[in-house]
Amino acid sequence: MLAKAARSPKSQTALWVLLLAMGFGAGIAGYHYLGSEVLQPISQTDYVARTDNILRTTPLIDGHNDLPYLLRIELQNKLYDSSFDFRHALASHTDLERLKQGKVGGQFWSVFVECPNIENADHPTHSVRDTLEQVDVTRRFIKEIEELEFCDTSACVSSAFRSGKVASMLGAEGLHQAGSSIAVIRQPFDLGVRYVTLTHNCDNPFATAASTITAGGQDMGLNTTQSPVIFSHSTCFELAKTYRNAPDDVLTRLKQNGGVLMVMFVKRFLNAEDPDSADIERVVDHIMHVVAVAGWDHVGIGGDFDGTVTLANGISSVADYPKLIAAVMKRGATDEQIKKLIGANLLRVWAENEKVAVRLSREMLPVEEVWEGRLFTRWNNPLPLLIPNNPNRVAALDYP
Ligand SMILES: [Zn+2]
Repeated sequence: MLAKAARSPKSQTALWVLLLAMGFGAGIAGYHYLGSEVLQPISQTDYVARTDNILRTTPLIDGHNDLPYLLRIELQNKLYDSSFDFRHALASHTDLERLKQGKVGGQFWSVFVECPNIENADHPTHSVRDTLEQVDVTRRFIKEIEELEFCDTSACVSSAFRSGKVASMLGAEGLHQAGSSIAVIRQPFDLGVRYVTLTHNCDNPFATAASTITAGGQDMGLNTTQSPVIFSHSTCFELAKTYRNAPDDVLTRLKQNGGVLMVMFVKRFLNAEDPDSADIERVVDHIMHVVAVAGWDHVGIGGDFDGTVTLANGISSVADYPKLIAAVMKRGATDEQIKKLIGANLLRVWAENEKVAVRLSREMLPVEEVWEGRLFTRWNNPLPLLIPNNPNRVAALDYP
């Protein structure tokens, strides 16, 4: 039930920006601020110079990096342990040196925790506690490294980039991380989390994991949203037939929706039949397939570094983004198209989400719905009546 009134705009913003999925942006027009640095014409086939020039003026924003989960499982979130040195070489895919080599301008750090092993959404789990711990460690990590700047608005990404920092955002992965509660979704928003995917690999009361229109289901997310969505790290079903990937009908809907699919680098999602052969050219194939079906305005990058041990051949760390950009250029992409791919589309979508959130916060109250069959419990103790004869009051074993 949604009543109309102007109340609690912050909470409302939280709900819509998170549930509807997330965007970012300063608007494409914001990208010309460093244009004066372009001093001389660059040959179209000088991919290195073109890439350098673009990455100096447009923030490359990756949609998904699972480093925070490694902080959890290896350090138990003890960041100040001397064995953790983010400035220099880590054995995983991401550290400061390689972020700089890769010229990364913005990174969504995933505050992922795994799906709980439960059969009923009402069964108790640690998912929400563990998610809050992930938010805590990620925010402390960002604060600890002065070259990173925490951002929770699209405008912040552009200003952080201008001041030479890596804009650092938080994203969550699956509504199990919110205990399948809309009320809980609002809380990580207030802590700075700027996207939550509908599912990870487990179902929840709001969405079926890896379900697609092609699989016979209905894509309620795209039917329901009033705002452009993102696929933070995904690939194309047409090229790799796993239901985690987006089929063409979803890509077509994504185009209508105005959102962006951010292509990831995990082998089995790039090539389901022969994962070992998946290489950087295969990543480009997926990018070009999104472009062919939905257009250059709807594609982005969300590598999934540190969330897998099977990256596409030719991509081994966050230092390799320039290689990927050069590979896309070799397929004929213009500088403007590359700018859209690496970050401008994401920023456009984020900015649009911010606008929609402001509008909806004026038009409606925070959503108070719960999923059908949701249990509320009460301890066995006498308590005052709030509303006499209230049929919705939860009864205790010995007390009404
Ligand atoms: Zn992840």
